[in-house]
Amino acid sequence: MFCYQCEQTVGGTGCTKIGVCGKNEDIQSLQDTLIFGLKGIAAYAYHARQLGQTDEQVDAFMHEAMFATLTNVDFDMERYLELVLRAGEMNLRVMEMLNNAHTSTFGNPAPVTVPTGTKAGPGIVVTGHDLLDLYELLKQTEGKGINVYTHGEMLPAHGYPELRKFKHLAGNYGTAWQNQKKEFDQFSGAILVTTNCVMIPKDSYKDRIFTCGIAGVSGVKHIKNRDFSEVIEKALSQRSEERRVGKECRSRWSPYD
Ligand code: SF4
Repeated sequence: MFCYQCEQTVGGTGCTKIGVCGKNEDIQSLQDTLIFGLKGIAAYAYHARQLGQTDEQVDAFMHEAMFATLTNVDFDMERYLELVLRAGEMNLRVMEMLNNAHTSTFGNPAPVTVPTGTKAGPGIVVTGHDLLDLYELLKQTEGKGINVYTHGEMLPAHGYPELRKFKHLAGNYGTAWQNQKKEFDQFSGAILVTTNCVMIPKDSYKDRIFTCGIAGVSGVKHIKNRDFSEVIEKALSQRSEERRVGKECRSRWSPYD
């Protein structure tokens, strides 16, 4: 085990065999499992809240479960097992809430054929998985001659009718998040990072990448209140994106199914 959660920790560095407080490796593993689960629940709950939906049971569970992991609060294995199982239930509950938030805002998703590659002209590529950020960007870029592309986990956005209706949602560019550095380097337009999965950018595109919402990188411009005017200005000031034809791909139903 390794734990450095509190000031009692061995030698000021970490308890590795058993905790000074009495915590053992089983309790520590259950606490870690619970915290990993809470991170996922937090991500879904955050997105749902952005779309106006909250759940009192989920919120109350977050507080209870976080509190239970504090030093010396609870070393009862059975109670931790119960909490971990409840985290699974809360996860299903929050996923359902987010799905409802998405479908009531953007319509029921259906699999569609998505062109890949790029078209000639100014472009913005959007990565992450915040559909509301994409929606606001599509509204703000409408009629400006800018092509908007999804990247990585934003691909399922094409399946939602209220997003698909924008003709300048031109397709999907690139592959997955781990290839951002190579693919963003080769893309000549502006880049918008929503939510997570941002890699530390290379200098070659640091001046044309933007973060918004929960995402952030030191030295990168952060967009507030979904006012994407700076992203749009950057896209229009860059050299025109080349036409690169890729294979068509299929969108999935939802990023959370
Ligand atoms: S919480 Fe317990 S195991 Fe963790 S650092 Fe403190 S004393 Fe050690």
